[in-house]
Amino acid sequence: MAEAAHENRCPLSAVDRRLADVHRQWHEAERGYFDPESFRVSIQTAIQTLRTVTFIVQSNKRLFTNFDPWYESWQNRLRADSLMRWMVDARNKIEKQGDLEAHSFVRAEVMASYYEEGPRMEVPAELFQSPVELISSIPTEALRKHVFKDGILRIQRRWVENSLPEYELLDAVGIAYGKVAQLVADAHRQLGLEPPSTMVGDIDRTEGEESRGGRLPCMIGHDDARSHHVWLATGQPIEIERKAVEFDRKGAEQAAGKYGLNPKEMFPSTDPAPEATLNGLFDAARKMFSVDGHHDTIAFLLKGARPVNLMQLAPQEHGEKYLLMRMLANEVIKYGADGVILLSEVWCAPYDSNNPYRRAVDAPERTEYLTAVLVTQTGVPVELRALIAREDGSVALGETETFLDEAQIAFAPIYAAWGRAIPKAWIEVVTIGAGDAASGEDPTTSV
Ligand SMILES: [Zn+2]
Ligand SMILES: [Zn+2]
Repeated sequence: MAEAAHENRCPLSAVDRRLADVHRQWHEAERGYFDPESFRVSIQTAIQTLRTVTFIVQSNKRLFTNFDPWYESWQNRLRADSLMRWMVDARNKIEKQGDLEAHSFVRAEVMASYYEEGPRMEVPAELFQSPVELISSIPTEALRKHVFKDGILRIQRRWVENSLPEYELLDAVGIAYGKVAQLVADAHRQLGLEPPSTMVGDIDRTEGEESRGGRLPCMIGHDDARSHHVWLATGQPIEIERKAVEFDRKGAEQAAGKYGLNPKEMFPSTDPAPEATLNGLFDAARKMFSVDGHHDTIAFLLKGARPVNLMQLAPQEHGEKYLLMRMLANEVIKYGADGVILLSEVWCAPYDSNNPYRRAVDAPERTEYLTAVLVTQTGVPVELRALIAREDGSVALGETETFLDEAQIAFAPIYAAWGRAIPKAWIEVVTIGAGDAASGEDPTTSV
C-alpha cells in the first residue's frame, strides 16, 4: 500500500503521520546542514518529535488486545540502548534547559585502500586550514608514494554534540528514527495490520528495512553528499557521478538489456544457490565479451540467488574504486542484499617485494582476465576467471577456472556493512603487499 493510501485507512494513522513528520524534519536538518541556525532548529525539532511518536502509540492503547506486556518489552529494549537513552535526555534538555551543544567539525581522511585505516583528523570547522598536517603523518615513503598516486582525500563537515562524541548528529537521529520505526511497524503487526511500505519513487524498498535498522534508504550514506573528494595525485576534485552509483530502474533496465535480462524478473531460477546465479552471469559475460571484446564493470546485488538490482561502475582512476566500493556497501545496506557479484576485467601480476604498492596494471608481466566474484553474507568468496588473450586485434577467452576463498580485499567495505569480520588472510595480503598473482584484487575498466 502506498504511504498516502495507508495513512488514510490505518487505525494507527496518527502514529504513522507523526513518524513521517520526523522524516520530514530530518531532511530539513540535512538541507540546513551548512546553516548553523537552521540545522539547530530542525535537528532539535526532529529529536522532540521522535519522542512524541511513542506517546501517541501509548495513547492508542485501547486498539491493542494485550498492550502492556508488548509495550513493556519495547521499553526495555529501547532503555537498554545508550543512543536511545541519549535521545530521551536530549529531548528533556531541549524542552527544559535550552539548546544542545552541537559543534561543527571538519573531518579529513585519506582513503588509499579498502580498509578504514587511512590517517584521519577531526578539527573544529573554524580551525581547519588544510590537510597538510594529515598527509605529513603518513608513516613510510612507499606508502606516501602510493597515497599520492592512488589516494583520495575526503573532507567532510560534521555536526557533533558534546555528550555524543561517537556519532555525527544527523546520523544519530537517523538511527534513532529507525528504532522507533521498527516499534511502529511492530505495533501494526500486533493489530494484524500491514506496516507502512517504504516506497522510493515507484520502487518498493520495504525489503531492505531490516538491514537498514528500520531507517529509510535516504538515511543511509547521506554524508556522501556533503563530502568533498580530492584526488591527491592532481589535487583535482573527484565528482563521482551519483547517477552511476544510485540504482534506478532506468539504469538497471539499460544494463540488464545488454544482457538480455528482464530486471523485474531477473533469474526466476529454480536453483536457490547464489553460485548458480554466478555461473549463469559468467556464461552470459563470456558470450558478450566474445562479441564486444571488452566487458564493463557491473555489480549485481543479490537476495539469495535472485539479483535485486545491478549497477554499472566506471572507475576512471584507481582511487575512485576505493570510493565506489564504499558506496556499493551503502547500497547493500539500503537493499538488504545478502550477496554481491562483481563482473569485470582485471589485471594480475606477480607480487614484487621491491615495489609493494605497485598495481598490476603497471607491471611489465601483467595478464588480463575476465572475472566474476561472488561474496555473500555467510559463505566464502567464489571467483570465476578466464584468461583474456588479445592478438592482432582478435580476442579469445581461456577456460573458466574457479577459485574459492581468495582474499577479495576490494569487498572489505561490503563485509563491514554486513558486520562480518575481515578475514585475517585479506589483511595479510595488504600488509605484505598489494596482492599476489592470484588475488585479482585490482579490477580496472578495459583498456
Ligand atoms: Zn499505519
Ligand atoms: Zn527521505
